[in-house]
Amino acid sequence: KLDFHPAGRHFLQIPGPSPVPDRILRAMSYPTIDHRGPEFGALGLQVLEGIKKIFKTAQPVVIYPASGTGAWEAALVNTLSAGDHVLMFETGHFATLWKKMAEALGLKTEFLGLPGIEGWRRGVQADMIEQRLRQDSGHEIKAVCVVHNETSTGVTSDIAAVRRAIDAAGHPALLLVDTISGLASADYRHDEWGVDVTVSGSQKGLMLPPGISFNAVSKKAIEASKTATLPKAFWNWAEIIEMNATGYWPYTPNTNLLYGLSEAIDMILGEGLDNTFARHQRLAHACRSAVKAWGLEIQCADPAVYSPVLTGVMTPPGVDADAIRKLIYDKFNMSLGTGLGKMKGKMFRIGHLGEANDLTLMATLAGCEMGLKLAGVPLAGSGVQAAMAELSASVAPDQLKA
Ligand code: PLP
Repeated sequence: KLDFHPAGRHFLQIPGPSPVPDRILRAMSYPTIDHRGPEFGALGLQVLEGIKKIFKTAQPVVIYPASGTGAWEAALVNTLSAGDHVLMFETGHFATLWKKMAEALGLKTEFLGLPGIEGWRRGVQADMIEQRLRQDSGHEIKAVCVVHNETSTGVTSDIAAVRRAIDAAGHPALLLVDTISGLASADYRHDEWGVDVTVSGSQKGLMLPPGISFNAVSKKAIEASKTATLPKAFWNWAEIIEMNATGYWPYTPNTNLLYGLSEAIDMILGEGLDNTFARHQRLAHACRSAVKAWGLEIQCADPAVYSPVLTGVMTPPGVDADAIRKLIYDKFNMSLGTGLGKMKGKMFRIGHLGEANDLTLMATLAGCEMGLKLAGVPLAGSGVQAAMAELSASVAPDQLKA
């Protein structure tokens, strides 16, 4: 029996893992080297220095051979002690999972949020955080945890505003931010925004496979880690940062993913971070124009916080979004993101991150439009036409020129 092989490439249009560019795949195929040898030390120093530019920080960035969930745990166990009160904000499924983890680790969590699914449509409300911190005159709250780009909804949150809220309340809480799906796609400024721990991962804007994740840390976070008592061993920053000084890790690092990371850093800095962000914004805008032309609703209800990474598309009442995703997968060999948690079956998510360009977006929208039509979803008009008109009216910068 011959294996069936669908023609062409699979369209991986979920909001991460994102497609891995050939250049990165090739870099990862180099032979695995001695992680205690001189060649590895040079690679280690190079990626540890390069990744700081992506986080916009002069402080250490810890790299773990783990998925993003590991880096979430690392952020909490390095800075907090059992029973510490943490203030979190319900922006969506990932904020909810991070809260569940904090509870499992023995922290006392408080979940701020808007009623119903409003928080899942509008992102963090910094004024609510400020108000709550002002009430906490005894400084019981030790950390504020927020998600920068909610991958479950396509809503970003204004991290600078959260910083201002903490400062306005005169509160000493640490600021912990998840930008697992925002980094290298949406503007992010670890130092300027006064973030104490930034958590990120490899499989989104960095265009790598899943498998490495990050904690960018502040001086205040390092200080907190010296007295924090939650048990930590593998995640302990101290030993890792100490060994990173010469480009090594206390354990066997993810050598081949680090080759990939080095390549990804070159690609992103080669394009220029601002150009990368502008490309994402442009594609995201065109994608939203398509959704509007279809007459469907965008999950994000506040245009000020539309995500440049992904667009959440709500299906009309009674239309199962997962059935449409399955049809598109079966007929067009394309994966779209499923609705998560409260949005299960009610929405699908279109990823336009990483190495996305005009033509990958157009093909993705064509797949969506054909699938919606096949499923019998009444559409107000052609999203493909709307997006194409928009993209061709503001032609992308030359792709083949430096
Ligand atoms: N936080 C956000 C915002 C995410 O998008 C994800 C994964 O998609 C995670 C956390 C969890 O990361 P991982 O699945 O790599 O463990």
